[in-house]
Amino acid sequence: MTTIADRLKKTHQRIEQAAVNSHRRADEIELLAVSKTKPVSQIIEAYKQGQRLFGENYAQEAQEKIQQLRPLYPDIQWHFIGPLQSNKTKIVAENCDWVHTVSREKIALRLNEQRPNDLPPLNVCIQINISYEDSKSGANATQMMALAQVIDAQPKLRLMGLMAIPSATTNYELQQKELSELKALFDKLKQSYPHINTLSMGMSNDLELAIANGSTMVRIGSAIFGERDYSSTSQH
Ligand SMILES: *Cc1c(COP(=O)(O)O)cnc(C)c1O
Repeated sequence: MTTIADRLKKTHQRIEQAAVNSHRRADEIELLAVSKTKPVSQIIEAYKQGQRLFGENYAQEAQEKIQQLRPLYPDIQWHFIGPLQSNKTKIVAENCDWVHTVSREKIALRLNEQRPNDLPPLNVCIQINISYEDSKSGANATQMMALAQVIDAQPKLRLMGLMAIPSATTNYELQQKELSELKALFDKLKQSYPHINTLSMGMSNDLELAIANGSTMVRIGSAIFGERDYSSTSQH
């Protein structure tokens, strides 16, 4: 049987090997463990192996897990990486440390307004629609600069970088094109905001290519926790 500990170790090895191949330092690349649909027991198992960054996609599910685990494990950093509608911003603002999926000014303003005063600023990545599929949410290159300005001006938000979900494809050239475009946008944004340091790209199937293209945070779900079984959860 493959355990979460084995899979985590293997994932770290993949990251290290990809870093070596790209002449990068492995410690420039953070591992975000995507625990959506997985029980808290599995989060705790990963935590005990040293994992500290966890990503969730569904606001309600994130809130339940965070409220349960925050008192026990205050050093977990919680990242919201799912689609974010207006009626869910409050949950994210009150519970999460990071949000990767801000692509509209309205959402940014709501998050700022709803972020409690006693919490540090919410770390924000702008989601870019790099696959140009209409079905995917995300800002385009032009919207990015305007949105960055809005986020940067909010006292309770901290602009950290960019995130994207590339096309679900095995076409290497297309994957490479999208990832390198995102890196170029990140470099452009960094010229105006030198403090940004997060390029959130790379999932279980493309983490090597993402690291080769400058990713600083890979979001890994199934390679750590196994395949997801959506049928067992009522909310999806
Ligand atoms: C589910 C999800 C992941 C993890 O995907 P895997 O292929 O299981 O590694 C990463 N990012 C986002 C936005 C996700 O929704």
